[in-house]
Amino acid sequence: PSFVEDEEGGIVLMSNNLSSSSSSSYGYANIEKQRQRLPVYKYMTEILYLVENHATTIIVGETGSGKTTQIPQFLKEAGWAEGGRVIACTQPRRLAVQSVSARVAEEMGVKLGDEVGYTIRFEDHTTSGVTSVKFLTDGVLIREMMEDPLLTKYSVIMVDEAHERSISTDILLGLLKKIQRRRPELRLIISSATIEAKAMFNFFNTSKKRQAPEGSTQGPKLEPAILSVEGRGFSVKIHYVEEPVSDYIRSVVSTILLINEREPPGDVLVFLTGQDDIETAIKLLAEEAHSNQKNSSGLLPLPLYSGLSRAEQELIFTPTPRGKRKVILSTNIAETSLTLEGVVYVIDSGFSKQKFYNPISDIESLVVAPISKASARQRSGRAGRVRPGKCYRLYTEDYFLKQMPGEGIPEMQRSNLVSTVIQLKALGIDNILGFDWPSPPSPQAMIRALEVLYSLQILDDDAKLTSPTGFQVAELPLDPMISKMILASNELGCSDEIITIAAVLSIQSVWVIARGVQKEQDEAKLRFAAAEGDHITFLNVYKGFLESKKSSQWCYKNFLNYQSMKKVVEIRDQLKRIARRLGITLKSCEGDIDAVRKAVTAGFFANACRLEPHSNGVFKTIRGSEEVYIHPSSVLFRVNPKWVVYQSIVSTERQYMRNVVTINPSWLTEAAPHFYQNRQNNMSL
Ligand code: ADP
Ligand code: MG
Repeated sequence: PSFVEDEEGGIVLMSNNLSSSSSSSYGYANIEKQRQRLPVYKYMTEILYLVENHATTIIVGETGSGKTTQIPQFLKEAGWAEGGRVIACTQPRRLAVQSVSARVAEEMGVKLGDEVGYTIRFEDHTTSGVTSVKFLTDGVLIREMMEDPLLTKYSVIMVDEAHERSISTDILLGLLKKIQRRRPELRLIISSATIEAKAMFNFFNTSKKRQAPEGSTQGPKLEPAILSVEGRGFSVKIHYVEEPVSDYIRSVVSTILLINEREPPGDVLVFLTGQDDIETAIKLLAEEAHSNQKNSSGLLPLPLYSGLSRAEQELIFTPTPRGKRKVILSTNIAETSLTLEGVVYVIDSGFSKQKFYNPISDIESLVVAPISKASARQRSGRAGRVRPGKCYRLYTEDYFLKQMPGEGIPEMQRSNLVSTVIQLKALGIDNILGFDWPSPPSPQAMIRALEVLYSLQILDDDAKLTSPTGFQVAELPLDPMISKMILASNELGCSDEIITIAAVLSIQSVWVIARGVQKEQDEAKLRFAAAEGDHITFLNVYKGFLESKKSSQWCYKNFLNYQSMKKVVEIRDQLKRIARRLGITLKSCEGDIDAVRKAVTAGFFANACRLEPHSNGVFKTIRGSEEVYIHPSSVLFRVNPKWVVYQSIVSTERQYMRNVVTINPSWLTEAAPHFYQNRQNNMSL
């Protein structure tokens, strides 16, 4: 693509180079010096003073200023972890939790899992009584409230990356505000790269409504404090494409080669939408460089997305070898959650993967959608970390100015709320519509969720959790539909198979993303394919993996992702343990595939679809009569059986069902009589 500079000369960041840090000093200076150079370091006393004196402190600071890694250490040094208390720092992303906690442990010179630990779903690296600085996802902290509703072991909870407004962050903010009323000694820090600090201030400002508890005139002020940490970004020159690009992955690749040809040393950070995009771009880069004999020497492409192995994560932070140029191809995670030193060039595709939910059709789907201006600014800012940088936007300036939305919509307002409702119910919050949300979800979406939960027999007539089903589902750290499937499998005598399926459904994909070898991959899939659909196919894949003695070679030969398969084994072990706790005994159905499909139907009946007669693979959802298709990655693609249930929908030009299994429609009425009762007439079973 050809680029133009932006009108004003493209200076987007205020230059405020207070620090003496110059390029490439990282990795050499000792860790203590590096710490002291971070912008938040100068605010240590002020931060500690505010936290001491205010129930809530809102801290805004540019990405990389040291909020996440330093503030928990300041608190620890100031004594907030004394007497067995714990300092928590939450993140919306699992990978950020792992990476940041590893860094803090290193800075403190302790082993990760001792004084500094982390917990994410299915992985706990903390030691009770020893860990005093704990990083965790906001989802995990919400789960901890089921055991300890007031989170009594925590002295300070830092809700980080609050600007992202993930659904779990929003739920957590609402719950913490409630807890504060009962625990005036608890301190909250709300931190983010960019946030409507005013909105957060208003949300937490209870000083007008509430009197300080009687007799205690010394408690912290109820009015939140706001602190803005002055950043130290360098200027970034913005380049826009002259004409809209038709294939952003190809444009990314040619832009990388262009930078490598023309620009002085400096790493490149590319924003793409997901693992599939990223792997495609890496393959294409290798091909292009090869076939056009373009100069790609020195390029060191590295993927960055959740689900990377520890070793792959470490590569990202290893200083770039001399004469090399790292090209980090990342999802949104590098937008604000992680700071990568050495980046001088940013390529912004202009897209990210986003969840959208339509309460009318009751379909939640994952869509590659345009980012907001706020995101675009964050992305370009990542180029100014070590010296003035450049950002290549793969959209036109006109598009940026006139069409790109200003801000993103909170996830809460574009999600299916089934999990949210269960979590709140499990915490004893009955009046969900009246809950104090930072941004309330639509009542329609709420009603939809209640309806599904009632049909799943998770909620009773009074909208209370049923016993035992409702409480059991709430206890499982899984999508409620998966949980319900597991519970049903116990009765159907196929829990062994269903737990394997649940583990596979909990990860992104077991298949590698292959380009140009579609035929070979399809052939490999056929070796496992079951006529009943993907779920049964996964059972064959898992069996094969065990028989191969978990061989990476075997995975490679069969186009299976070895890392994913190892994860499946791990998650399966965890699920086995949780299931045992719920009194589920592992039992195999010995090949009774109908039992397995019935169990899947018991969980996913709300996602039932029927093939339109005489259509070319058009399905209609039973619930909303929405047009959907089987995803090309499914073993049922082009097979088009009459009745199916799916796990999820991804939308591109069409709505595609992922992970599809054939069913017998009579199972639907068996699984959820209330749900399908009044639809029976038009179902013509
Ligand atoms: P903020 O939260 O304000 O965005 P951080 O505390 O995450 O800032 O980052 C502060 C510094 O720590 C940055 O210079 C960053 O590069 C460094 N850092 C963070 N995590 C790691 C890591 N895993 N390895 C090496 N350096 C890291
Ligand atoms: Mg941070």
